[in-house]
Amino acid sequence: MKTIKDFDFKNKKALVRVDFNVPQDENLKVTDNTRIVSVKPTVDKILADGGSVILMTHLGRPKGEVNDKYSLKNILDEVSSVLGREVKFVDESIGEKAEQASAELQPGEILLLENLRFHSDEEKGDEAFAEKLSKLGDTYVNDAFGTAHRAHASTAVIAEFFPSTKFFGLLMENELIAIDKVLKSGEKPVTAILGGSKVSTKITIIENILPAIDNLIIGGGMSFTFIKALGGKIGQSIVEDDKLSLALEILEKAKEHNVEVYLPTDVVIADDFNNEAEKKVADIREIPEDWQGLDAGPKSREIFNDVLLNSRTILWNGPIGVFEMSNFAEGTKALGESIAEATKLGAFSLVGGGDSVAFVKQFGYSDKVSYVSTGGGAMLESLEGLELPGVAAINK
Ligand code: AMP
Repeated sequence: MKTIKDFDFKNKKALVRVDFNVPQDENLKVTDNTRIVSVKPTVDKILADGGSVILMTHLGRPKGEVNDKYSLKNILDEVSSVLGREVKFVDESIGEKAEQASAELQPGEILLLENLRFHSDEEKGDEAFAEKLSKLGDTYVNDAFGTAHRAHASTAVIAEFFPSTKFFGLLMENELIAIDKVLKSGEKPVTAILGGSKVSTKITIIENILPAIDNLIIGGGMSFTFIKALGGKIGQSIVEDDKLSLALEILEKAKEHNVEVYLPTDVVIADDFNNEAEKKVADIREIPEDWQGLDAGPKSREIFNDVLLNSRTILWNGPIGVFEMSNFAEGTKALGESIAEATKLGAFSLVGGGDSVAFVKQFGYSDKVSYVSTGGGAMLESLEGLELPGVAAINK
């Protein structure tokens, strides 16, 4: 892997693509700075070598037009405070001012460019735009895992202008190592937990990971499609009726790969999709007609716990209940506890993809698992087995 660890940035101007596409409140204040915190090690390493850093990123969807709401000057103070140093800012990403700011940048200094997506050429992957950007630095570092699944000018195309001086940043490196541990080099037994609402969005992931895993725990809304396909009565639970035969095919394929599949055996059912609804525990195959399953039941939690405590590598994607409603979050919390416990016992655990990441942050499990991915779509595409354009561009 071509990483910044193997390069000395002394007197180099590193053009670093980061993903500072952070959430902001109505006053444009940053509400979650994880993505800024995550690139600090990369910035620190380059500066410690005696280099300078030019940060480039997108923020929001300005659709190719200059729009103050999406200006990076709105997050400048936060970037500076997280990185613990002064950060200079220039209100363009290409052009004379950007060139001058880059030319004046001294070793040990950081410059933040204006939002790349103020130019529609960024998302188009325009080569001329990428070339203009490339002139601002003499080395290129990609540390934007969250955007690595896009073939944009600054994430992929630009790399061709740095044939021998392009590198993965430390965040990218960690993300790629984490994925590799789960899909290739992980210690066995490997257990994947897939949850969430629909099986249709996870099919490619399941097919790709089956050869690499030993156990597959299927929970949450998607489990009902499997239970119905197996002849169970699921009441009003969420289901994809056009995916019943596919569910059976997945179970068949799992068998071929000697993967043990664990579905919930009991569920917390509710008489309405509502936090205040009446609730009770039922056998997942015997849900009364007017009720629906909204969380994993106590027996299921125990079974999942046993599997996880016996695992050495764990991948978790998707909640196993409607955790947004407090009365149906207990199953997912128990799962979080089990993964935390397994991690304490020495397992490697990766949490990746949208809602499970939101869950671990909300309920304080971030520090109790081995790795929480910073990329939603990029992580999902990696688990689907796709090579991300941002990764391919460095590897080429
Ligand atoms: P996904 O975006 O496919 O990963 O799905 C995440 C969503 O699945 C979360 O918003 C959960 O509330 C939802 N979910 C999990 N379990 C269930 C369930 N039993 N019934 C309905 N939705 C569920």
